[in-house]
Amino acid sequence: MLEYTVTIKNYLSKHNAPCITPKAALIDMDGVLYDSMKNHVEAWYRTLIPLGIKCTKEEFYLYEGRTGASTLKYLFDKHFNQKLSDEECAEIYAVKEKHFNALATITPMPGADRMLQRLIENNIRPVLVTGSGQGSLLDRLDTDYPDVFKPEYKVTAYDVKEGKPSPEPYLIGLSKAGVKANEAIVIENAPLGVVSGTAAQVFTVAVNTGPIPAQALFDAGADMVFPSMPDFADHVDELIETLRNTR
Ligand code: MG
Repeated sequence: MLEYTVTIKNYLSKHNAPCITPKAALIDMDGVLYDSMKNHVEAWYRTLIPLGIKCTKEEFYLYEGRTGASTLKYLFDKHFNQKLSDEECAEIYAVKEKHFNALATITPMPGADRMLQRLIENNIRPVLVTGSGQGSLLDRLDTDYPDVFKPEYKVTAYDVKEGKPSPEPYLIGLSKAGVKANEAIVIENAPLGVVSGTAAQVFTVAVNTGPIPAQALFDAGADMVFPSMPDFADHVDELIETLRNTR
């Protein structure tokens, strides 16, 4: 509890905010709601190696949060000094999506349902904020998490121009939720997503569900880092209560 209070007070003084009164949780999808990053990484690898991009699987964890087009533009510029058009990106992304859909079925992140239930019972509205345009996952959300994400509270690749790490997706999330930055929290797993959340001035919780060191999430600016989703779910009540009571 004391540790939470110190972290929250740091946020308040940094952002010159009187308090945090969380009404909405802006929640990333891949690596937060779904244990999907391994499949994304494999699909990217299978798509890009034949195109001559000498990439490693590990580096894709660091690009997580960018839109597909942004990842492709970045990599083609870096490797070939080539500026991809949106049409070229869409063509390559379709190949990635084909590989992605051929891989083993993705399961919901263990603990995510409990995390969402704790938020809802604390009167916090879940808002989806993902850079993903992956239809196969977006279409499953309402089945795996019934009645959690209302259509008007979803931000996807189709809503954003810039994508993470720009603050844009989380600013759109705030706007859709109708709340100010200090009336929300961000829940992320990726360094670029954390950069996006903190750039939108929102208290950003990172849940480390992948292979990157926790320090990478702190370095990106995370206000808190939890070691797993079940661990975060265990601490949601305590965190919300501390957020509401810290001045
Ligand atoms: Mg993610």
